[in-house]
Amino acid sequence: GIRPLVAGNWKMNGLRARLGEIKRVADASDALAPNCDLLLCPPATLTYVATTLAQDTALCIGGQDCHPESSGAHTGDVSAAMLADCFATHVIAGHSERRADHGESDDLVRQKAEAAHAAGLIAIVCVGETRFERENGETIAVVGRQLEGSLPVGATARNTVIAYEPVWAIGTGLTPSLEDIGEVHDFLRQRTETLAPGMRLLYGGSVKPDNAGAIMGVANVDGALVGGASLDAGGFLAIAEAT
Ligand code: 13P
Repeated sequence: GIRPLVAGNWKMNGLRARLGEIKRVADASDALAPNCDLLLCPPATLTYVATTLAQDTALCIGGQDCHPESSGAHTGDVSAAMLADCFATHVIAGHSERRADHGESDDLVRQKAEAAHAAGLIAIVCVGETRFERENGETIAVVGRQLEGSLPVGATARNTVIAYEPVWAIGTGLTPSLEDIGEVHDFLRQRTETLAPGMRLLYGGSVKPDNAGAIMGVANVDGALVGGASLDAGGFLAIAEAT
């Protein structure tokens, strides 16, 4: 089968005082390596020290966003090349919070994912419907449109991961039913199969230690993208153990 990836997205959380959590995950990562890949995406300020803590362990460190260009006059932005220079291996592209807060379009997300590839990083491309769209029966149409517009040219199972994150499930404690998760993941598998067989399809949105086992058991769910529960090493490792 497909090797699972359990990824943590710290979002705009994490001062240096929290680096001990990264160290704890890094120290536990070798024991989990037979079951899954482990990734933490701290804020950009902590990337370099995080990769130092994770050096020579099975824990990977990633960024949360990147600019489509590798350098230039873009105050405040971070490029994929800069993340790679800090020994990051992955970067998230098109998280719904960036799509909402910064008006990121599918086309921009695709460019970011292509920049990730150019820098040698694995791109984690996020898609997901709002509550309004789900209530209107538009979930598959929305996810399909986002996938079509955001998937980088040259995507393979090695360089690209898709994360399905329903916007209404993020940070709310709500999750879709296992059937609803399965429906979207079956659709994503079908859409990516000819292009990139075996591409990893993550579920994200209120994944916790107590629901991770059931969600990871759904067909075509190849891991998780964890927000709040990844800030604590114990919670994150419990999710990885349930995978
Ligand atoms: P929560 O796990 O906090 O719901 O966040 C999910 C998410 O957005 C991960 O990228």
